[in-house]
Amino acid sequence: MYLKHMRPYQLKEAVTLNYPLLVPAGCIETHGPHMAIGHDTIIVEEICDRIAQKVDVVIAPSFDYGPTGYALGSPMDGTIDPDYTAFGNHVKAILKNFRQMGFKKTYVIIMHQGMEAPLALAFKKAAAELAFEGILEQGYPRGWWGNETLKNKAGSVWNEIEVQPMILPAASPPAGGDHAGYNETSFLLATCPDLVEQDKLDQDAPWYCYQDEEKNSWTANATHGQIMVEAVVDAWIDKISTC
Ligand SMILES: [Zn+2]
Repeated sequence: MYLKHMRPYQLKEAVTLNYPLLVPAGCIETHGPHMAIGHDTIIVEEICDRIAQKVDVVIAPSFDYGPTGYALGSPMDGTIDPDYTAFGNHVKAILKNFRQMGFKKTYVIIMHQGMEAPLALAFKKAAAELAFEGILEQGYPRGWWGNETLKNKAGSVWNEIEVQPMILPAASPPAGGDHAGYNETSFLLATCPDLVEQDKLDQDAPWYCYQDEEKNSWTANATHGQIMVEAVVDAWIDKISTC
């Protein structure tokens, strides 16, 4: 189910039934001459859509404009980099609203720059702050964690919002990352083939398109992409189902 499509009674039902909330987070960043600049968000959205076909989840509207650090081009090349403080404040405010909607478990899913980069850290920082602040807002007194009864009553407040890579360890291999190379190009070929034009690759293509003699942006293919997609989706379903 897509949060944007839900009517209030459906939201209430989803919350009552403890459906987890999936939050795709990515960026707008140049991905070589052959790929859509929104890849890193689009691929997470595609994976979330496939997860939702197999288990009950709610998919939030994506965070599209994450930090890039202009490591790969400027706005004229198709890369956007926001003000990090503003982005972090925005992230925290929206995550807080998701919790106020009643979602008990939220997974922020990322396929961009790794889990110690500004995008993932913005979500991790917001999640950590909300965990501490939320317990006081629920009426627990200062010093609650030092009181064993209150600590046990509060339960696990630290895991309500998880920030995770799209490719969970269980999916790798076969799934792997790169930038617009064999793996990412294959991911997009398997999910949104209209957004890839491999005939735009030529000798001027950047280094990251040909990291490997055999496995590169030219030889990327939907078959490899599909194998990765299935592994990634299966790993997520395992994780959500055993939570
Ligand atoms: Zn990418």
